[in-house]
Parts: sequence; structure tokens; C-alpha cells
Amino acid sequence: MTPEERAEKVKRLRQELVDIKYHVTDEYLEQFLIARSWNIANAKEQLLRTFEWRETNRIGDHPVATGENKLPVLYAVRGYQSVPDSNLEARPGVSESVLRINKYMGGACLHKTDKEGCPVYIERLGYHRAKELAKNAKVEEVQGYHIGCNEFLHRVVMKDCSKAAGRHINRETVIFDCTGMGWYQLHMPALYFIKAIADCDQKYYPETLNKFFLVNAPSAFVYVWKIVKAWLDPGTIAKIQIIGSDFKEPLLKQIAPENLPAFLGGECTCDHMDGNCVPSQVLKNAKPLVPNEKNEKVDTAYNADIMEQGKTSDIIRGPSFYGREKYT
Ligand SMILES: [Zn+2]
Repeated sequence: MTPEERAEKVKRLRQELVDIKYHVTDEYLEQFLIARSWNIANAKEQLLRTFEWRETNRIGDHPVATGENKLPVLYAVRGYQSVPDSNLEARPGVSESVLRINKYMGGACLHKTDKEGCPVYIERLGYHRAKELAKNAKVEEVQGYHIGCNEFLHRVVMKDCSKAAGRHINRETVIFDCTGMGWYQLHMPALYFIKAIADCDQKYYPETLNKFFLVNAPSAFVYVWKIVKAWLDPGTIAKIQIIGSDFKEPLLKQIAPENLPAFLGGECTCDHMDGNCVPSQVLKNAKPLVPNEKNEKVDTAYNADIMEQGKTSDIIRGPSFYGREKYT
């Protein structure tokens, strides 16, 4: 499809949306068109369902951490302008469920950008304690946490990356590092968490993936992949590269060495931060996350009072999701 044909489809979808009260960018409309194979009626249907979901659940009021509001981050971040380098910590306001979930996670960090200007999300999947996670967390808690992370990614970090790149950035590059993975991780209840997350992203955050690298995949992973693949859209599957131990070259093709952690073949070590590039509770390279009475046991990512403040305070709510910004 030529750029002109794409622009025409976007224009036609916009004409179908005369009644909507949001000012959405062409890039946002294009995400839905790509996800629905450029079928305008189907893209419109998915878009309206997304608006409805966001309104019903007041997703737009979800608090997001910014340099200005100083809310605690929900996972480690490195290398962005609008929020200082920080780790997930047991600070007041983060829900107890977020801290509990992370206790069993191998480590996650939104770490700098790739050569296209997209943020890079790194997860040390191989160190996840899948069985403990499934036993100790509810799917609603994992979803609540995931939505909090998604809103932060799209409303704070993507806008930051767009400003830096001078163009609209609405996709992230993901690296799942399978180092450490074994048969014990082939645990169906834990895989259902992945299904819940993939369902949410494919329905309400379509086409937000740039590249997806699964590195150091052991042979056991083939079985996991067979199960997970059935839950993913063909468009998502097409972006996933499964690589064994020879991951260095493909990663460096996408990410400059100074932006890629040393343990993935780059030169970055984030020496200034506890836990370095990707802090991990399981590997115990960062401060332990011990909840106290200031971390409430709720399904949402932040405590109830902070979630409530998001409904009335622009500062707590942070930037809006539907951008009208121009980056060029
Ligand atoms: Zn680093």
C-alpha cells in the first residue's frame, strides 16, 4: 500500500468518527487500521470499543509517574527526559500487589531507545518464578499492574521519545531474555497471565509493538511458544524474532551499543543505579521490595487514594492519552 493510499484510509476512518469527542492523531487511527488489515468498518468497531473501555474504567484518569508529580514508578526506567532514572521501590502509594508481583519477576526495565527512537522494554523472563507468581497473584492484579505500566509508557515515555526523535513514536521494542529458563516455567496458570496481558494489548493498545526479540530461548521454550502463539494476532507473531545464543548481532542491528545492556551484548552498565540496567528481585541485585501499611492491597497499581486523585488532578493524571501534539 502506498503512503497516499494509507492516508486516504485514515481520512475515511476519520470521516466515520464524526461523533467522537476525542481529538486523535492520524497515527493512532492508523494503528487500528493496521491491526484490522485496513478494513475501515472493523477498525472503527475496535476503536469505539476501546473508547468505551477507557471511559467505563476511567483509564484516562489512571495516575502516571512524571518528573513533575514525583509519583513512584511501577518498573525501572532508564534514559528518558520527563522522568528521572528510577527503580520500582516499596515507596508509599505503590500498591502491595505490584510489589508482590515483582517479588517473583526476573526483572523488568524500560531501558533507553532503539535506533528508530522507540523505547526498549527488557524483561528477564528466564528468571521469573512462574509457579510462585501464579500462586500468589490474581489475574485482576496482574491486569491492574499492566494497565498502569501501559498508561505510563504511552502517556509519558512515548511522548518523551517522540520529542527526542522529532516524529511520532507510538511503538516499543521488546526484549525478553530467556537466560535461566527451565522446564519449571512451563506452568499453565502463569501462562494465562500472559494471555490476559496479550488480550488487553491486542484489543485496546493495538499495533504498539515495534520489534520483539526473544533471546537465549532454550529448547523447552518451543513448547511454551506453541501455547502462547495461539493467543496472538498474526501481526504480533510476525514481529517476534526467536533467537538462541547468537542474539548479539540482531540486537545491535536494532539498538546502539551504548543503549544496550552489557549482558545483552551492548556496552551499557547503568553503574549509577542500584540493580544496574535491569534490577531483579529474583537475582537480588536491587533493594528488596518489602510492603508496609502504606502499600494497600488493591487490584490497581497505585493505592486507592492516588487512583482517586487522578480523577481530579491534572498533575497526578499526567499527560493525556490521545495526543494532539505535533513533533515535527
Ligand atoms: Zn543500562
